[in-house]
Amino acid sequence: MKMMKYAAVTDLKQAEVFERPVPKMGENDLLVKLYACNICTADYGVWTGSRKKQFPVAGGHENIGIIIDKGDKVNSEFNIGDCVGFSIPFCGLCEECRNGNTIQCEHILDAIKPTEDGVSGFIGFAEYKVVNARIAVKVDPSLPFEESCFLEPLATVVHGLKKVRPTRFDNVVVIGAGTMGLLNAQVYRFYGSNVIITEMMQKKIDVAMSLGFDVIDISKDDPVEKVNLLTEGKGADLVICAASTTSANKQAIKMLKRDNGKVLFFAAGYPAPELDIDSNQIHYRAMELIGTYDATISDFMEASKILARKEINLKCLLENSFSLSEIQKAFECAATPGAYRVTVRL
Ligand SMILES: [Zn+2]
Ligand SMILES: [Zn+2]
Repeated sequence: MKMMKYAAVTDLKQAEVFERPVPKMGENDLLVKLYACNICTADYGVWTGSRKKQFPVAGGHENIGIIIDKGDKVNSEFNIGDCVGFSIPFCGLCEECRNGNTIQCEHILDAIKPTEDGVSGFIGFAEYKVVNARIAVKVDPSLPFEESCFLEPLATVVHGLKKVRPTRFDNVVVIGAGTMGLLNAQVYRFYGSNVIITEMMQKKIDVAMSLGFDVIDISKDDPVEKVNLLTEGKGADLVICAASTTSANKQAIKMLKRDNGKVLFFAAGYPAPELDIDSNQIHYRAMELIGTYDATISDFMEASKILARKEINLKCLLENSFSLSEIQKAFECAATPGAYRVTVRL
């Protein structure tokens, strides 16, 4: 039996490397040698304890690898040597899947239930992965692995963008210049919006400015007044909350243009932030409050195309990289306030 190393969070602020057999490959599966997995906010949230889960949790879903074997029924769409990332699992047969809502797959729980030895999660900080070919997404092999790992975060941005339907030259304010804030900001600019970012941490302000954005330092300026100034009194067509706090939510509503403004709630906050608004405002101002979470397989396909254009700066969103044996250090780094994505090399 071929064995593989993988990492799991075993307790609060404790991550370790274990060994388990490489899963058996079925006739519709791909065997992928993984090369890199970035640590998502959701992953280190389990490690810090802000997101409650039953340990051990072997997370990791922002990963990339190369196909080294394929099942007999996998057609020529996927071949040995292809570089691939993965969408979240879906069955492809249920009503939601057939309507294109693969996020809402009715059988998602079957796909992510704990393994026989009690390990839950995607087991993505691992040397190998066996997946049904339907969830694999090809990525440009000329990209560095740690940059291709942004496939999943980019897909979630695309999902939100499709719900928001921005038009060219929209004034878009992104609250928060963390990884997801700067990914959103760059993608909306790529699709033609004028983007303004608000942030208070100097390090993140510097990165946002180096990417050429208008940045409002909220420790110095009132963000609502400043947005008003930068949009010539119009206010924002869209505010993306990429940092989730009650005060950010309040600012978002105030920054919106008088009528037909949209707020996209992109991030989750722990504890859950509040939204202080009466429904008359939503009614009279014809406001759209939009939630987004996760991404469908078609969003992943579009994200792969965006990656291949190489117009989104991903280098500046990479904080550091560690080998799998340094998993504990990798989590410590990822959970440091202000850190961008941390890569685990596999
Ligand atoms: Zn993620
Ligand atoms: Zn399904």
